[in-house]
Amino acid sequence: MKLAVIPGDGIGSEVIDSALRVLRRTSRVIDSGISWDVFDWGAERWLTDGVGLPDGAPHLLRANYDAVLLGALGDPRIPDMAHGREILLGLRQGLDLCVNYRPVVLPGGTVHLYRENTQGLYAGVGGAIRRGGIAEVAIDECVYTRETVERFLRYSLSDLQRRGSRRVTLVHKSNAVPNTGSLWQDVFRRELREFPDLAGNEQYVDAFCYHLVRNPTQFDGVVTSNLFGDVVSDIGAALMGGLGLAASASISPDTGFALFEPVHGSAPDIAGLGIANPYAVLMCVVLLLRHCGFDIPADALEQSLSDAVRTEVTTPDLGGIGTTDQFTGEVLRQLDLKL
Ligand code: ATP
Ligand code: MG
Repeated sequence: MKLAVIPGDGIGSEVIDSALRVLRRTSRVIDSGISWDVFDWGAERWLTDGVGLPDGAPHLLRANYDAVLLGALGDPRIPDMAHGREILLGLRQGLDLCVNYRPVVLPGGTVHLYRENTQGLYAGVGGAIRRGGIAEVAIDECVYTRETVERFLRYSLSDLQRRGSRRVTLVHKSNAVPNTGSLWQDVFRRELREFPDLAGNEQYVDAFCYHLVRNPTQFDGVVTSNLFGDVVSDIGAALMGGLGLAASASISPDTGFALFEPVHGSAPDIAGLGIANPYAVLMCVVLLLRHCGFDIPADALEQSLSDAVRTEVTTPDLGGIGTTDQFTGEVLRQLDLKL
């Protein structure tokens, strides 16, 4: 297996170091081994030569690698994360990564959240009517095509079926946002007919947030649009115990090509201190291994993470006294017992 690794900025590259240590260890139990190339796309390169995502990058990744692992992008010297947006949006569009999967792993079970990742309110359609340079009216339009909703739902529902899920909830707001809302409902109801083992239900996003916080594990699979998914998945990260724990996968429904990245950003406040929690990126490695069909090391790593997180070498964000390096060492020690 060959990976493209983009460490990125701040704690991104610190947690990626830890992921590479774990991948090196895991590689021993995979016949073909695991190798990777590291790409320096991020703030430093943007500041020195103005390049965010080099031309042809999506094609290069797709043609030469099995998956992408990304740390985090963001730098206080670059306003609005201009470089990060160029890189992330470029990869998302260029690789057609329209499915964003974020598992919310809780003691009572896992909630499998799927967010559409390319259209909706983030489609970039809109503008402003200005008077003397000042916006008087501002418009961001929510755009969905049936084709994208179908491809997204088909992939998400079949992924849920593969995981053995029995229930799936469509999160929407069709009472207030009727046009895209009813498109989603219509496609959801049609696609569900192809998955007789999945019981579907539909919830307004406001009610869903309420129920998710009160009793998260009543939910099994959840599918939703771009904006709602963005908000809801941060609630999921909070329920798990913080940003340091939440992992995500962005997947192309057509090719299955995927990019894995922790949900957290570059966290400039703790960058360089050696205390970033590598749990989220290591959970990304679990998702990556499983996605590429390596279930045995994926299960072993997932179990090692949950064992390591019960020791005192967890990082300070989880109330521990450990460093990134020490927590990674503990995960590797646990992994040695299992592999
Ligand atoms: P960015 O602009 O890159 O998103 P940010 O300042 O928003 O950076 P995030 O990484 O999104 O920072 O996270 C917000 C805060 O949560 C951080 O400032 C940090 O204190 C904490 N945090 C996030 N991820 C981790 C982690 N892996 N380990 C420890 N603390 C973290
Ligand atoms: Mg952030």
